[in-house]
Amino acid sequence: MAEPVRLRPKRPCPICQKPSQQKFHPFCSNRCAQIDLNRWFGGNYAIPVKDDESDEDEQRET
Ligand SMILES: [Zn+2]
Repeated sequence: MAEPVRLRPKRPCPICQKPSQQKFHPFCSNRCAQIDLNRWFGGNYAIPVKDDESDEDEQRET
């Protein structure tokens, strides 16, 4: 029942696909971590906005 000790496969850096460094996990470097941060805070993220209230004057009945 002795399972072989496996090393977990390192995930590649999600930014540049290089092997990630533990120090900057899950990125390979601080630079890639910053790039990822900029993706979130740089207005690049998409917030799902429901545009159901687009009835400006359409519902005006006479
Ligand atoms: Zn990277």
